[in-house]
Amino acid sequence: MKFRAAVLRSHETPFAVEEIVLSTGPAAGEILVEIAGCGMCRTDLAVRHSAGRTPLPAVLGHEGSGVVVASGDGPDSTIGLGDHVVLSFDSCGDCRNCRSAAPAYCDSFASLNLFGGREEDASRLTDAVGGALAPRWFGQSSFAEYALVPARNAVRVDAALPLELLGPLGCGTLTGAGAVLNTFRAGPGDTLVVLGAGAVGLAAVMAATAGGVRTVAVDRHPERLDLAERFGAVPLPAAKAGLAERIRRYTDGGAQYALDTTASAPLINDALRALRPTGTLGLVARLRTALQLEPGTLDGGRSIRHICEGDAVPELLIPRLIGLWQAGRFPFDQLIRTYPLADINEAERDCDAGRVIKPVLLPERRDR
Ligand SMILES: [Zn+2]
Ligand SMILES: [Zn+2]
Repeated sequence: MKFRAAVLRSHETPFAVEEIVLSTGPAAGEILVEIAGCGMCRTDLAVRHSAGRTPLPAVLGHEGSGVVVASGDGPDSTIGLGDHVVLSFDSCGDCRNCRSAAPAYCDSFASLNLFGGREEDASRLTDAVGGALAPRWFGQSSFAEYALVPARNAVRVDAALPLELLGPLGCGTLTGAGAVLNTFRAGPGDTLVVLGAGAVGLAAVMAATAGGVRTVAVDRHPERLDLAERFGAVPLPAAKAGLAERIRRYTDGGAQYALDTTASAPLINDALRALRPTGTLGLVARLRTALQLEPGTLDGGRSIRHICEGDAVPELLIPRLIGLWQAGRFPFDQLIRTYPLADINEAERDCDAGRVIKPVLLPERRDR
């Protein structure tokens, strides 16, 4: 079948919205999803700086949501025709971590999601003149009108929900909220500092506020701090001196949890200095430089850990976040600005310039 998609051909070129060809329909365990919307995540844009590790040309996009229009499985499958689904990251389902309900730490996470996808997908997607496109990105490649997806990546949601806005629940929103709810299990009486008030950081702020956690948010941009404050955090400008002391002042003498979304070593060091004994620093962004720990930094049972995809089992966390949103306690939709898929380059520019927190691309609706 032929449909339109945003193709990234090289690290430097803009996205090109063009017709592409899917040569085979869903095999066993796969579904074809008509995309209603797809969030733009930092990881999509980071491909431009991936030093060639992500194969191009490719169709990116990994926060898709849509309607199942074909299935490779029979009527007994858990996800069927007409179901509304939110798509999340890919995992093998078979390794030790997948079997331990930790699919974000799948042995094959990097290869399945970032660096080439499933081997059997090679050559299934081509451009209009037969040029090969990389296999699926995060198991989906959702900057497109359709996405062919492993059914295990899809989470069914109520058909009454605004489907086109739900895609970010599959990655960025899940990452920030999951760090607070799953990794930290933060609750009333706890304190949290969030470094970076972008899509992931603000999702963490919202989840913390919903859970009664006293939260401080640090960012360089005043307008992002205004948002963090609106969602319940104490705003602290990153630029001022004495950040660790200021964090401690607003977290009852030291934060129990710190979540870094910036990969900025100076900010991370400030957050470490502001942790209380037994406090935990979670890192969701890949560090760009070495982190040098001063002696004694981790004394008092303090710890640092990496957090991928909010430690989430998407089938559990996405419905939980939707429930919080319906109760008015997790207003993630307020971070979204929608763009037609054809305007994807404008969305990227706005995202890079900090003019929008979470762009969501909407494919043009066409009669099938
Ligand atoms: Zn696995
Ligand atoms: Zn993402």
